[in-house]
Amino acid sequence: MEDFIKKCPKVELHAHLNGSLSIETLQKLAIIKYGKSNSRFKELCDDFRNFEDHSMSECFQKFKFAHELTSTLECLREATLLAIKEFSEDNVVYLELRTTPKSTEEMSKRDYLENVLLAIKKASEDYPNILVKLLPSIDRSQGLDSAEEMFSLVLDFLEDDRFKDIIKGIDLSGNPTVGNFGVYKNLLVRAREASLKLALHCGEVENPSEITEMIEFGMDRCGHGTFISGENFELLKEKKIPVECCLSSNVVCGTVKNFNEHHFKRLLDANHPVVICTDDLGIFNSNLSSELTIAFNTFSLTIDDLRKVITNAVNCSFAAEEDKSDILKKIEAFFI
Ligand SMILES: [Zn+2]
Repeated sequence: MEDFIKKCPKVELHAHLNGSLSIETLQKLAIIKYGKSNSRFKELCDDFRNFEDHSMSECFQKFKFAHELTSTLECLREATLLAIKEFSEDNVVYLELRTTPKSTEEMSKRDYLENVLLAIKKASEDYPNILVKLLPSIDRSQGLDSAEEMFSLVLDFLEDDRFKDIIKGIDLSGNPTVGNFGVYKNLLVRAREASLKLALHCGEVENPSEITEMIEFGMDRCGHGTFISGENFELLKEKKIPVECCLSSNVVCGTVKNFNEHHFKRLLDANHPVVICTDDLGIFNSNLSSELTIAFNTFSLTIDDLRKVITNAVNCSFAAEEDKSDILKKIEAFFI
């Protein structure tokens, strides 16, 4: 089955750029940044070799490396290209990447966003089998000023003919126990007015009043939705808000006890639009094929269920209608 799923054309809707860098990619970036003879490079290689469990501390360590190794423009562009290459090798035909623009000693937030966009453009030539869009992220732990700064960059790039078709929406993510959703509402309303879609991390932790506030506000897709229950679950269903389920991410991070207890099945059984995503495949040593295989095996899915989940992803993607219909044709042709 794994082989069948691997060959199937797939759609990835919830992938953070820095978290989507595999160990192989991080090693390549370490060579670019430090050179093979540099002591920091050797130190990093030793650390990479020691990655074997899936503990939270290992996950945080990988994030730290990813940020360190994407702090120059060259490394950031290469990181974006390599991440796209690996999704394409997994037969992902449509990908929505998300990332929070960061400033470092060598680049401003504008440089960051522009170079990710340039790399996505380059990838359309280097890897023509995958269509890539970007959802710039608001990190809810960084406060409104930082979000406003990011949003004004997005508005600028939406005016730029080179990039206006690449930016499709806004992601809200970051530490769910820090910051307050209400603070970002006004900005998100303006994003909607600028025809951007909203993919919001919601219900990652138990916070029923914020979950109600978010679902009532509305969103085009809900990230995780782990702790949406009771009346909030009914409201989610009523509003038909698609949910992005990230199995390994939730289990490794401990918000879900094990795969069997994952809320994916409850959503699928309720005939709710639900999709399988990777979140941070580099951190969890995973890819979309293996996440779909886990879902298939854990929940004894049928081929029809699999087709439905992958088709759901196309339908709730932020792709243009003609791109959706092209992708659907590829998927239908595979399942015949
Ligand atoms: Zn996420």
